[in-house]
Amino acid sequence: MDFPDIHSFNQIYDCIVIGAGIEGSSTAYRSAKLGYKTLLLEQFCLPHSRGSSHGPSRLIRFAHSKMRYAEMMPEMYDVWNRLEEESNTKLFQKTGLLIVGRPSNNVVAERVKVLKAMKTPYEELTHPQGLQRHLPDATFGPDAIGCIDKMALVVRADKCLKCFQDQFVAHGGILHDEEKVLEILPGTLVTVVTNKGKYRAKSVAITAGPWSSKLLNPIGLEPPIKVWRVNVCFFKERSIGTYSKWPVFIDSTDSGFVCGFPSNDYPGYMKMGYHHLWKEVDPDERDYKIHGESQVDIEFLKKYVRRHFPGLEAEPAIVETCMYTCTPTEEIIIDRHPVYSNIVYACGLSGQGFKLAPIVGKMLCEMAYGKQTSYDITPFTLKSLLARSKSKL
Ligand SMILES: Cc1cc2nc3c(=O)[nH]c(=O)nc-3n(C[C@H](O)[C@H](O)[C@H](O)COP(=O)(O)OP(=O)(O)OC[C@H]3O[C@@H](n4cnc5c(N)ncnc54)[C@H](O)[C@@H]3O)c2cc1C
Repeated sequence: MDFPDIHSFNQIYDCIVIGAGIEGSSTAYRSAKLGYKTLLLEQFCLPHSRGSSHGPSRLIRFAHSKMRYAEMMPEMYDVWNRLEEESNTKLFQKTGLLIVGRPSNNVVAERVKVLKAMKTPYEELTHPQGLQRHLPDATFGPDAIGCIDKMALVVRADKCLKCFQDQFVAHGGILHDEEKVLEILPGTLVTVVTNKGKYRAKSVAITAGPWSSKLLNPIGLEPPIKVWRVNVCFFKERSIGTYSKWPVFIDSTDSGFVCGFPSNDYPGYMKMGYHHLWKEVDPDERDYKIHGESQVDIEFLKKYVRRHFPGLEAEPAIVETCMYTCTPTEEIIIDRHPVYSNIVYACGLSGQGFKLAPIVGKMLCEMAYGKQTSYDITPFTLKSLLARSKSKL
């Protein structure tokens, strides 16, 4: 262990952000852009693929089941567009999103209601032929219905993360990677102890993704979050380009959601994930003992591809790993410490945190600096989540 840096301890930051995933990088970017003296600490050497924000792509969409997320989207699109302009980097591909449902579930009806209320362009598809028009080389079955969210985009995840971090530094922020936070000592000035030094700040934002409980529990916060290992599979096209021009799709099968992206991340390979939480892990042992174990999500996807995507080889050619950090209702937590209001945090992003990062960052900054939040924070607090989780049991 290095000796603590006395100069760092004498400096007082306005905010220290812990964790440089998409939530922390967006928070730090906003804080520095507002002119606050901000330090962003990341335990691993950047870039890394051990958290939840890495990889080539993520989806941004209006088609949510809950209005409170859809209502944030217009501002979200604005921030993402601004980031693209500021960094002069192409971050998006406009693809649209095809939601596939069955008469036995109300997935399509729920999304259509939200799309209509948001007055955003969409199309309802009441017959399987309608779906085939949008994804001709897939068959979703005779009872499939759907809708298209025409505003949905694929974002280049790794590039977005880097752009937030680069712009943070460009606005005067200080980024330390390879520096792990070991302890947070609350107070009017919060002390943050790392493996390399000690720092003080007027506020701290904790955005540690799958590692959140490890930092929140010692300061008395126990959000009900679980960390799940997820396999992301890439299936090879039999004829290159078959699935490159089509929308992202989310199919709500009777056994859970399958999500597929056009074959552009790695040309010739279509990305698919199955939203089925089967492998709870400690984030520091994500891949431990996994080899040789039958992987439920991969086996499911192989059968799914065989059945619905004749233009793909049914054995995944590439498998990448990521982690979801989920709450029991799969709703996100953005809150402040009930005793130390200068400690704020976001966790349990439940597989939907990438697109939300600009707003998560904005709200964390507003709370850290004692301002009114732009959106009603009540539904995102730990207290609300615990109440909703109880009523669900
Ligand atoms: C397969 C997959 C597909 C997804 N698809 C979508 C999608 O299409 N759309 C969407 O909106 N969302 C999607 N998500 C969800 C989204 O990617 C996550 O919600 C989001 O990336 C979470 O970001 P985070 O910053 O909270 O966590 P992370 O990215 O894990 O960042 C946390 C960071 O904190 C650091 N850290 C932890 N502890 C410490 C410490 N003690 N000291 C210093 N640093 C520390 C970690 O090293 C890490 O870098 C997907 C997720 C997965 C896994």
